[in-house]
Amino acid sequence: MLNNPFDGREIWFYTGTQDLYGDETLAEVEQQSKAIVQQLNESTDIALPIVWKPLLKDRDGIRTAMLEANYADSCVGVITWMHTFSPAKMWISGLSSLDKPLLHLHTQANVSLPWESIDMDFMNLNQAAHGDREFGYICTRLGVNRAVVVGHVSSLDVRTQIDSWARVATGRQELRTMKLARFGDNMRNVAVTEGDKTEAELQFGPAVNTWSVNDLAEAVENADPDAVASILRSYDEDYEVAPELRKGGAKRESLKYAAKLEAGMRHFLEEGEFSGFTTNFEDLGGLRQLPGLAVQRLMADGYGFGAEGDWKTAILVRLAKVIGFGRPGGASLMEDYTYEFGEGREKILGAHMLEVCPSLTKKIPSLEIHPLGIGDREDPVRLKFDADPGEALVVALTDMRDRFRITANQVTIVGPDAPMPNLPVASAVWTPKPDLATSAACWIYAGAAHHTCMTTNTTPEEWALFAQMTGNELVMIDDTTTKNGFLHQLEWNNAFFRLARGV
Ligand code: MN
Repeated sequence: MLNNPFDGREIWFYTGTQDLYGDETLAEVEQQSKAIVQQLNESTDIALPIVWKPLLKDRDGIRTAMLEANYADSCVGVITWMHTFSPAKMWISGLSSLDKPLLHLHTQANVSLPWESIDMDFMNLNQAAHGDREFGYICTRLGVNRAVVVGHVSSLDVRTQIDSWARVATGRQELRTMKLARFGDNMRNVAVTEGDKTEAELQFGPAVNTWSVNDLAEAVENADPDAVASILRSYDEDYEVAPELRKGGAKRESLKYAAKLEAGMRHFLEEGEFSGFTTNFEDLGGLRQLPGLAVQRLMADGYGFGAEGDWKTAILVRLAKVIGFGRPGGASLMEDYTYEFGEGREKILGAHMLEVCPSLTKKIPSLEIHPLGIGDREDPVRLKFDADPGEALVVALTDMRDRFRITANQVTIVGPDAPMPNLPVASAVWTPKPDLATSAACWIYAGAAHHTCMTTNTTPEEWALFAQMTGNELVMIDDTTTKNGFLHQLEWNNAFFRLARGV
């Protein structure tokens, strides 16, 4: 099993000031900044604990603090707040060494001003309004990627923004140590699932490497019988099992093999410390079924997955699993499959051959077996369900040759117009924003993939934070998108990202 990604991880909180203020004022600054951290930690709105760190008053202390944050694996990011004035030339050396995400919290100890009693002592103590502008200047001048959050920590909106950033910073940290196993290579001749794995490791972190599918087949053959039995029991208990797959049913053997396949895959992934993988239905080696049920259940446990060798989508699915950990909803590989074009009823029917994650529904999926025309193997078992109605995002990662582009579309899962008894796979039916014609045209102009990560447990702001944190391109298709505006954005982005990357 994969660990809770927030376990053992934390955010470090630094308060910037200077010696000039004297011990008495600095003691007050310290007490107030501790109180801010305590308020954040006492709310249950932020996924990670925030650790208060001693005041930063000079250049050497700032540099040492930033290097310590870099070095600590437990620290996924740094929050800074200039409660008083912290002359920012002192921050140049430290900030230019910082290799962890930065959130600049522009806040103050008090919500309201004490209008009746305010004096110069109060003004000198509570001057983030200009101390943080000095800090902002040096961040901008140095080109430091950061999130700026403004407001008092008693505001739920402020805490929600900090939570989103903390979750995305955790995702970034997870990707930096992620190992992704590809069973076989890319599907023959498919373009959009290809890409530069070396550059992806630099930009996002995951080490993407290939294993022969027969290494997996060997793990399946040698699967621990107790593990197989326990997985089979959970199939019987957790799903609506089709009669032919139940004990004594005509196809029971297929379900037993699926359990063996899952036990072998889990063992292989756990032993190699992988948190993502891909399969390829043209390259199944000694496997008797295309892995369907096993992939669905591994995704539900937090693994990133992409079909047909699509390691880029596997990265996105894993990232969404980490960012959205513990929230309702889920994340899955998805594929735009076919359209309802009826006027006023326009919808996209998304699915995959087998591999849609059951985290997209709260209902109990049915466990079924059906023939599969492609793949040249025995009939595979799979979970079937409709994704629950609600707001969602579809996100694709494409290799633009000189950079990666993240394309996202805000959508509403609405369910099918009528039951689909003959569709043998899990599916999602959605209406894209702003409308199907604009969304699909923009998506195609962006060169975004047919494979996506569909997520109901992350927000558009979180994907924007991730793109910004890693210095990569994000184009968002939402309620405000127009085709012309979007085309202009693509043109500007082409120029910007080529300039930003340099020679
Ligand atoms: Mn596909």
